[in-house]
Amino acid sequence: MRLTLLGTGPAGGWPDPWCRCASCAGGRAAGVRREPTALLVDDALLVGGGPAAAGSAARLRVGLDEVRCVLLEPRSHDPVDVGWLRRAARARPDGPVLTVIGPPAQLSHSGGTADGPGGRSEPRIRCLAAGPDAVLEVAGYTIRPLAARSDDPGSPTAFAYDVTGPDGTTLLYAPGPWDPATIDPPTGRPYHAVLLADPAAQLADLRRRGVVGTATRVVAIGLGHDAPAGPELARQLARIGAEAPADGTVLALGDPVDEPEDDGRPRAPATDRRRPPRRVLVTGGARSGKSAEAERRLAAEPEVLYVATAGPVPAGDAEWAARVAAHRDRRPPGWTTIETTDLPALLGETGPPLLIDCLTLWTSAHLDELETSGAPGASGDSGDPLAALVAAWRSSRRDVVAVTNEVGAGIVPTTAVGRRFRDALGIVNATIAAACDEVWLVTVGIPQRLR
Ligand SMILES: [Zn+2]
Repeated sequence: MRLTLLGTGPAGGWPDPWCRCASCAGGRAAGVRREPTALLVDDALLVGGGPAAAGSAARLRVGLDEVRCVLLEPRSHDPVDVGWLRRAARARPDGPVLTVIGPPAQLSHSGGTADGPGGRSEPRIRCLAAGPDAVLEVAGYTIRPLAARSDDPGSPTAFAYDVTGPDGTTLLYAPGPWDPATIDPPTGRPYHAVLLADPAAQLADLRRRGVVGTATRVVAIGLGHDAPAGPELARQLARIGAEAPADGTVLALGDPVDEPEDDGRPRAPATDRRRPPRRVLVTGGARSGKSAEAERRLAAEPEVLYVATAGPVPAGDAEWAARVAAHRDRRPPGWTTIETTDLPALLGETGPPLLIDCLTLWTSAHLDELETSGAPGASGDSGDPLAALVAAWRSSRRDVVAVTNEVGAGIVPTTAVGRRFRDALGIVNATIAAACDEVWLVTVGIPQRLR
């Protein structure tokens, strides 16, 4: 199966010429453009986009003359512009009949009938309603509209399209901000490609249920000014195993996907077993956004073990309890929390990725045992907790993201214990950073890669 991305932007495209936000202004200045999301499957299926898809194809010099089937944008509240479908059908009087598939509400908006859209018979067009249990066969493709739900009161019900090509390649097209748990694919194995409007929020569930496997290509669509532009978008998507190719990109699908494991357990692996574990340190000042950045890095994992090193909330400390509660509320379902400072034990086990929040509190808990005069292990003292942590960190087979505080750049602490803590944390940070695959500094909410 060959996917041509005719557009990857929102309705109206990005940048929005009416909008003066930094994203749109920056996109205009850089001369980049994402047309409304639409794709061409081989040369046969045109998915999404509506009338704009034809304009996008024309600009990309992509012909639509072989298209056999149009899958209308699967949102029930968008009425169909029937004029462009008539033009499409009449432009090729000797060509195949054009099959138009869309949600029943959309087709009836425009008076669509089995004979043609708009209430008038159009011999070159046949309409098929995309009911939730429909299995539609067109030109060797099997198209199953899958019911999806969202919290949006204006559009609570919609469809995702499940497409199987003549060669067995499978595709999920889910352009809405829908609850992924309501999308129930029929195949029982990972798709070759999924196109999602909000992969950061949707991937964890889809991976947990085996809908997305390690070989599935995850393409972000509907990218507008709410998404960061340029390299930051690619960075955010790469860390969750997704991508945002430019309009006009052609994706060749059909490599083998994971076979389901026949052991009765969920099929999705916790992480991609074919790559080595990633160890990441995220540092920053207080309220810099470092914890949120660390959490976003693991947001698309089916399971995460959140390691709180703070220990129990001191009795009567309402402010501390509120902080802990706010952090906990931000964690997605599928995450479990453990409160411990025994990090080497966790690093030595196998299991889902760890999010360690944070090394600052770990340092505080071990302050009396830490060497503050130099690198760990320099004294050969096997009781040094930092030496034990680094050894476990280096040999761990888990993905790990650890959060820490960047201290020492401000005023010198007035107390001796404050200066000792500052020195110890600086040494812990530098020592762990040296054993990391990636190190990030978050300042005013903006992550910068240091390593
Ligand atoms: Zn904008």
